[in-house]
Amino acid sequence: MPDISQLAFTDHFVRQLPADPRSDNSLRQVLRACYSRVEPTHVQRPELLALVPEVAALFGLDPTPTPALVEVLAGNRVVPGMAPYAACYGGHQFGTWAGQLGDGRAITLGEVAARGGTDPDGIAIWELQLKGAGPTPYSRRADGRAVLRSSLRELVCSEAMFHLGVPTTRALSLALTGESVQRDILYDGHPRFEPGAVVCRVAPSFLRFGSYEIHSSRDDKDTLQRLVRFTLERFYPQYLDGDRMDIAGWFDEVVQRTAWMVTEWMRVGFVHGVMNTDNMSILGLTIDYGPYGWIESFDLDWTPNITDASGKRYRFGAQPQVAQWNLAQLARALAPLVDDTTPLRRSVERYVPDVSAQYRHTMLRKLGLSGLRTSATEDDDLLTELGSLLVESETDMTLFFRLLAAPQPSFESLRGAYYTPEEVTVVQRAQLGRWLADYAQRARAEGLDEATRRARMDAVNPLYVPRNYLVQEVIEATEAGDRTQLAVLLDVLRRPYVEQPGKERFAQKRPDWARHKPGCSMLSCSS
Ligand code: AMP
Ligand code: MG
Repeated sequence: MPDISQLAFTDHFVRQLPADPRSDNSLRQVLRACYSRVEPTHVQRPELLALVPEVAALFGLDPTPTPALVEVLAGNRVVPGMAPYAACYGGHQFGTWAGQLGDGRAITLGEVAARGGTDPDGIAIWELQLKGAGPTPYSRRADGRAVLRSSLRELVCSEAMFHLGVPTTRALSLALTGESVQRDILYDGHPRFEPGAVVCRVAPSFLRFGSYEIHSSRDDKDTLQRLVRFTLERFYPQYLDGDRMDIAGWFDEVVQRTAWMVTEWMRVGFVHGVMNTDNMSILGLTIDYGPYGWIESFDLDWTPNITDASGKRYRFGAQPQVAQWNLAQLARALAPLVDDTTPLRRSVERYVPDVSAQYRHTMLRKLGLSGLRTSATEDDDLLTELGSLLVESETDMTLFFRLLAAPQPSFESLRGAYYTPEEVTVVQRAQLGRWLADYAQRARAEGLDEATRRARMDAVNPLYVPRNYLVQEVIEATEAGDRTQLAVLLDVLRRPYVEQPGKERFAQKRPDWARHKPGCSMLSCSS
């Protein structure tokens, strides 16, 4: 099996796209370019905390953690064939155009060509990107580094999402840098030093909506066109016909992939937390895990991001709409490349009924139902009623759907999903009883027996998700020197739909101590 220096690196991105002529990392506006060549900054004492073998296997890398591999994964060594760069992109942050952002601390090491792809030669390209690897021309006022806390959260969540079946970037490794990084977690004037870390992320591409917006915002049609052509050649060849690019067809596919991704977030209870257009992947993958959170008690209004606490722009239930707003920004950015913008506008408009149909269908699947014999209105009634029941008496989303799958569910059999079952009133129990009767009737009308219903539900309702407090416990253990907990958690999350004996503590409601604790119920962008 090849070690890191023997992988087949390619350099399509840097070869085909316009480069910043400078390769130092001083801060600057980078014009008419898609990236800047920049190398990771050396770190003092790399220590590998995790290496995910199934991600290494994607491109045939030998997962033995040799000193040379650890050096590469911490940013201390670049092997021949790699062509490190930081990408230039812009973005709308919290609804406002923010201008140039770019990879302020992420550095792509290179692209590996591997077998198993879907292109005509059966080749897949995997981009290896270090996050927290030091300053770049895009670091603005920050240090280019990342802390252990946020890096561990990114590794755990991206791998959990993959095993849940949600489109996502992957994570190959997590390494400590042996250096400390100063952060003011709650932005309250109490900065502290934290261990620095580097994650190696892996995806076919980290191109974002903001990668296109930046050139459009600068009226740089030429660079925009080259980037779009590159994107189509590489990831969407079906929309290329010689010199002709079917921008509208391609954009419509991006719309559909995004709708699917967001609906999948709703299925598993994931809240991204910072759906700025610089955090939206052009491939429809979940990217840039920052102050994300997992729904514990079902609440469409919940946001994990304290920076977003007042406006709650990126709350759980708003994610489908926000994605549409972001898609509209992408459409605007692509407009200079088409003669007629009507098809782009239509795609953005069609997203609304499409995503609500998908959401309805997904929620029905969570109930084991197909909805084939009922009208959309009847389905929505059933789902809306369920939503209010879940909100009225604080109910754990994940446990509720697992317990509901058991035969003849009742308040008693669902008891374990309630945070304060003793506070559920007689009236609320009666409402639940009526809903359960309705639901049972729907299942009967579909000819669904209890065993089939359970099998269907357990296949789409995970039992194990990276609950906010579970990840926080692993962060604290790791910071305190316990190197075993991370591997245990990663392993449980590999089989999220299957009950694992002895792993009950990973499928528990959030304990009371975690209710208001930073890192568990509220996250900051400080990372
Ligand atoms: P995010 O909200 O994490 O997606 O980041 C938004 C922008 O800030 C991106 O351009 C990041 O590269 C940049 N950024 C975030 N943290 C840092 C950091 N510690 N050093 C340099 N740039 C950063
Ligand atoms: Mg980002």
